Amino acid sequence: MRKKIPEKSRQAEIAFRKHDHRRCQRQLLSAATRVCAERKLRLTSRQLQVLEILLASHHPVGAYDILAELNRSAGHDQIAPPIVYRALEFLMTEGLIHRIESRNAFISCVHPGHCCGARFLICRDCDQVAELEGRDRGLLAAADSLGFAVDHSMVEITGICAECQKHAE
Ligand SMILES: [Zn+2]
Ligand SMILES: [Zn+2]
Ligand SMILES: [Zn+2]
Repeated sequence: MRKKIPEKSRQAEIAFRKHDHRRCQRQLLSAATRVCAERKLRLTSRQLQVLEILLASHHPVGAYDILAELNRSAGHDQIAPPIVYRALEFLMTEGLIHRIESRNAFISCVHPGHCCGARFLICRDCDQVAELEGRDRGLLAAADSLGFAVDHSMVEITGICAECQKHAE
């Protein structure tokens, strides 16, 4: 019998593989839309544009690349950096995207709405990022046992993904 991959890790499982990313995009966008509906949030067209740029791949994107992408389609009215930073800030606060500190770049969340406990696998070779679902309970419990009130936690694990290891052989 084929071992069933739990739904939880499926996103991380496919992130590094060749796959139909349009499916990811649809799933991630509908998850984000659901969170917004639950919280009665309405994304502005700018916030939605930024989110869509991040949904386009599993590569983290820096603020200036997002800005360049927006300005490509903006025509004469060039967008100023603070506008992008505000949109990113909002999307981060709502848990729709995360900031990958080691890359100084942003990535869309695979299970939008959570505020902390995100864990990422970052491939040094293809530069793609997979977010593991669930929270790092061990780590959070350790902080809790010390009476430490966590307001932000993020684990960035770098290495080489299975696909890139195959190509290196
Ligand atoms: Zn994908
Ligand atoms: Zn997340
Ligand atoms: Zn890789």
